[in-house]
Amino acid sequence: MTSIDVAGTPVDTRHYIGGSRVASIETYTNTSPIDGSFLGEISRGGAHEVDLAVAAAKAAFPGWAATLPAERAAVMNRIADLVEENIEALSNIETLDNGGLIRSNRRGVMPRVGHNFRFFADWLVNHLGHPDFETRGHTNHISWDPSGVAALITPWNAPLMLATWKIAPALAAGDTVVLKPAEWTPLTASFFSDLTKRAGLPDGVFNVVQGFGAEAGAALVAHPDLSRISFTGSVPTAKSIARAAADNLTPCSFELGGKSPCIVLEDADLDLAVTLAIEQYDNAGQVCLSGTRILVHESIADAFTAAFTAKAATLVQGDPRDAATDIGPQVHLKHFDRIKGFVDRAAASGQNIVMGGTPNEELGGAYFRPTLVLEPTPGNEIVTAEVFGPVLTLQTFSTDAELIALANGTEFGLAAVVVSGNREHADRITSQLVAGTIWVNCFFVRDLRAPFGGSKKSGTGREGGTWSFDFYADVKNTVVAPTGWADSK
Ligand code: ADP
Repeated sequence: MTSIDVAGTPVDTRHYIGGSRVASIETYTNTSPIDGSFLGEISRGGAHEVDLAVAAAKAAFPGWAATLPAERAAVMNRIADLVEENIEALSNIETLDNGGLIRSNRRGVMPRVGHNFRFFADWLVNHLGHPDFETRGHTNHISWDPSGVAALITPWNAPLMLATWKIAPALAAGDTVVLKPAEWTPLTASFFSDLTKRAGLPDGVFNVVQGFGAEAGAALVAHPDLSRISFTGSVPTAKSIARAAADNLTPCSFELGGKSPCIVLEDADLDLAVTLAIEQYDNAGQVCLSGTRILVHESIADAFTAAFTAKAATLVQGDPRDAATDIGPQVHLKHFDRIKGFVDRAAASGQNIVMGGTPNEELGGAYFRPTLVLEPTPGNEIVTAEVFGPVLTLQTFSTDAELIALANGTEFGLAAVVVSGNREHADRITSQLVAGTIWVNCFFVRDLRAPFGGSKKSGTGREGGTWSFDFYADVKNTVVAPTGWADSK
């Protein structure tokens, strides 16, 4: 079977290579984390399919690179139109495949997919550029040239949104693309391939190879014909990709994990602080940017903890297809087991789990209760490692110096949330935090013009706005002398 019915929409289970569907002899089984139900058998790609896809992307590159920015932008805007026409289908497919909330997919995630294309199309045509530099009459002109074939390796927590955050700027930059989606969530990328075809994207410009990281992913990143690798995922996988890329000196952009602080200063509005802290459970805690370490000033810690646990008790856990649900399942039983392992080991080592700490037995399957660990032992893995589930820790501090040491005291530096009622105080704190993105009295708002990425082990490089073009394109400086011209003699 090459097409499956996903919530009433047919979705192809094969690769998308050179504008055609290509099957593998081998397949793997894809199930829904909502109830473990069977979704379909997905083509399981490896080196052979990767070779086909990279060859197709390489062959399509000269043609796509030669299109005018306005032509590229027009195709990208048509892709955005089709995404917007299909928000309901895309939301349903994604929710069944990764267990994310249908209401988030409808309201925020899928509209953002369309916006990714509109934004980078507009940026290419209307904003990408730099004033020339002048050196003794010589003009230095900066341009962003297409670089070649970009390999994109993406995760399962926001599958299509995170993929298009890379696909859109790569296509805008004039690159052609081979995408390897996460094996647990192959479906929206496949459905999206058909939209690119309908939008008139030339064959071979965008390709999808499905399959496992160790097979399709590893073969892709080791391919010698890539100009770029952009990866979002875990630190160990990034290291393995970096090693493979080293042989070809393929430039890499890595957006990795986090163990970010959610800081509540003594001058914070308590209601706002609780609301923002509760949001760190979004997507069942499967958000790399989550502020999973709540750091609260000791003077308000008791009041905060009481209000936080009271509010957390009102969160509705259940089927993500129900618009009333706040917390759905984890993406996969294997990931659920990993989270449970972290929490069980925390309990065994005497950590104070004041809320949750167990699977939700009523729902069964991959549902883990929102969990809070109070004052974890410094150095315990529950407060140092990325759990990537609905598990938060709460620590108190008494001075700003103590806070900064705690906040920066991990190997990560992806994000931070700061809640404060005093602008100067907030500024003093943010200026000392090591993080790619800091939210003050808010969470998750981000302008696509702004840079995004992590410090320390949370990543290398930045994407967003011109930073994305800096990565996907070959940035060129053309220096033109004032002399030597026939008409200047
Ligand atoms: P997680 O452990 O949370 O699933 P990963 O970093 O392993 O996160 O996965 C993110 C993406 O990286 C997925 O698309 C996965 O298939 C891919 N991947 C995993 N291992 C490799 C690898 N060795 N080379 C290339 N891609 C990989």
